[in-house]
This record gives sequence, structure tokens and C-alpha cells, in this order.
Amino acid sequence: MKYRFLLVAFIIAGLFYSACSTEPEIKEENVSRIIQTLSSDKMKGRHAFTPEINDAANFIAGEFQKIGLAPLNDENDFFQDFTIYSLTPSETKVTVNGQELNDQEFFGIIHEEEFELKESNSSIRYISANDSFRDAFRQFISNDDHNIIAVDKAHEKWFHRYRGYFNRANRSFELGDEPNDVFVLISAPIRSYDVSFKNKLESTELFNVAGMIEGQRKDEIVLFSAHYDHIGVITPMDEDSIANGANDNASGVSGVIELARHFSQQPTPERTIYFVNFTAEESGGFGSKYFSRYIDPENIVAMINIEMIGKPAIEGPDSGWITGFELSDLGEILQNSTHDSSYVFYPDPYPSQNLFYRSDNAPFARLGIPAHTISTTPIDMDQDYHGVTDEFKTLDISHATHTIQAIAKGTQVIISGEKTPTRINPDSLR
Ligand SMILES: [Zn+2]
Repeated sequence: MKYRFLLVAFIIAGLFYSACSTEPEIKEENVSRIIQTLSSDKMKGRHAFTPEINDAANFIAGEFQKIGLAPLNDENDFFQDFTIYSLTPSETKVTVNGQELNDQEFFGIIHEEEFELKESNSSIRYISANDSFRDAFRQFISNDDHNIIAVDKAHEKWFHRYRGYFNRANRSFELGDEPNDVFVLISAPIRSYDVSFKNKLESTELFNVAGMIEGQRKDEIVLFSAHYDHIGVITPMDEDSIANGANDNASGVSGVIELARHFSQQPTPERTIYFVNFTAEESGGFGSKYFSRYIDPENIVAMINIEMIGKPAIEGPDSGWITGFELSDLGEILQNSTHDSSYVFYPDPYPSQNLFYRSDNAPFARLGIPAHTISTTPIDMDQDYHGVTDEFKTLDISHATHTIQAIAKGTQVIISGEKTPTRINPDSLR
């Protein structure tokens, strides 16, 4: 009798404890299952322009369905489709000062299927021996004119490196939405020119996978994200050619899905929460760029992008770092609201790697959104990064799970409306 009473008392105490517990219930077995599925050889490394990316997207949408997320406002399902046009040079002819150039001596950045650059529709520019090639390049491609740009032979190395890059497919959201530029390697003034380009056009449908939980304040949105694509099949090593992308970034996707599961089990949040898996991060960042055009930046209160949380950071397990830490107070909010746990958030230890600018948070930060990436990866010494060995077995799932729990706990005060991170000043960005 006495024992039975004690047992009942324990059960009640246990129930009471779990009801009051603020530690998020995010389970290792789910994290493990998601990463294992997305990084399996069947998915062939989830390259954005291959059919296998569909399997990854369907799997994520299936999880969102089970969790009970709603599609974003003007979507019918969890797939946010968009088209990417890809142009590859097929027939080109460039004549300068009466002489036809060989294809080593020019390259074009052309946004149309067919284009002719003539003296009547374009301007002549120069990158002289004393200019910085990269600065001048950036300046000329971002102005509103069609240009022919003479590059002094002093910059030959840079010229060929860029030529190699731009002779591959040139991908964009729209055709003809940007001015066309042609670079020629020539150390003499341009007196006359005649340029014609024909490109082969292909279009590909890509999709982000996105769902949401609508809050009391519909238009105040906290955005969790991760890219779900990877680099696909690469040069074989020990008969393996699949870059599985377990850490990069199946681990981040497991974070987004488990955060969705966690918050869907809580009462209706004060703020709306978006859960977005971006495509094509590894092929030009098109998924996040597209999404950044789709939202109203004013409505996004915070963006937490998750990249590579499957391996403990240099500071050890149960710690994670935040890129662009000093650009808003989002990092401090996360630190303050997890100070009573064993998990530590700290600033990105690799500022020279420019990770803040290299991930999907960047297009959102440029709109003033406090948009940061959380990662734990020891990127300076990780032998598996972008290799065929980035596999499930190299990961520490308990660490990944603790990281997701810490993100859930740390962002609770933002989702509840208690805290609002300061905005990023776009002018302070490089
Ligand atoms: Zn990545």
C-alpha cells in the first residue's frame, strides 16, 4: 500500500516536472533518421540540378506534413517553385579594331539567348594595368550599361580565371534582366568593335521546401532555415564518388525539421514561425535569393540559418558559433536565454573565412534583417568538408541534438514576442 502510494506520488511528480520543464524535447532518434535518409547514397549528394534533389524535397515535405505545418500564405503545398535559366555560349564572334579575336581572348556575361554589342548600344571601358581587376570588374558588371571592357594583359591570370568561370553556364532568374558585358584581353585602345553572342538556353525548375506555424501576430515572423542541396557526384576517391553532405547540410535540415516538430507541440506562438529549406545554396545561392525577394523584409523579425551542426566545434561539444555576431544583438539574446544550460553560443571563430557572407543568411542581412548562421563545424580542419567522406558515421548526433535544443531554447523569447533583435545596418556590410 505504502509503496503504491509512493509510486503514484512519483508518477504525479514526474508528470508535473515534465509539464513545467522548459528543456525542449528534441529527440536524437529523429535527428539521426533525418540525417541518415538525406545523406544516403540513394540521394546521390542532392545536387540542385539533378533528379535526386526531388527525393530529398519530397522527404522533407513528408516530414512537414506529419508534423502538421501549414504551407506559406500564397502556396498550395510545401514546394515553392521557381525557374532558373541557364545560358551556355554556343556561337560567338568578337571583332575588335578590325581583327577577329580567338576564344581565349574574350568572354561575355550575357543574359539573353542572342545579343549583339555595337557601338550604338554600348560603352567602352578599360581595366588598366594599375587598376584592381576585381574592383573594376565588380564596378562594370553592376552599372546599367552594356559594356565592352578592355582588360590590360597585365591582368592575364585573372582574366583567364574569370573566363573559365563565365564560359560555363550562366544562370539567372530572368532573361534579359541585366545589362550584357563582354571582356576582351587587349593592351591597346578600342577604336571599333562588333560582337555577337548566341547562347544555348535551358530552364530548370527548382524549389525551396517551406512551411509555417501561424502566430497571434501574423506579420511578425521568425525564420528558421537550412539549405538541403549539396554538391552531388564528384571526383571519385577509393571508389566512392558521392559527396553525401551529411554534415553539409543534412544536419542543418534536421535542425529545421526538429524545430518545426518542437514548436508545433507548443501552444500557438505569439509570432509566426517559418521553416524553410533552401535549394541551390551550393550552386549560386538561388533558393535563398529567391526567398529574399518573396518576403517583406519588414516582417521578418529574425532569421536563424543552420549550417553544419553535426560535428562539435573547436570549443568542444555543446557549443556553437554565430556568424556576424556583432552586427545585431540576436547572438546576445541567444546567449542570455541559454545561460542556465550547459550549451554555449559564441561569435564565429573564423572571421577571415567570411562565412557570414557565404551562406544563405547573406541576402536577408542585406535587407536589414537580423539574419545569422549558426554552425558548429571545425571548418579549418575538417577533412570531410565538400568531400565523399562527409557521411553520417562521421557525425556526433548527440551534439547535433543538443545544438537544436539550444536553438529552440535560445529563440523562445523571440518567438514569444518578449525580445526583438536589433536590425542589421545594410550599409555596414561589405
Ligand atoms: Zn553548406
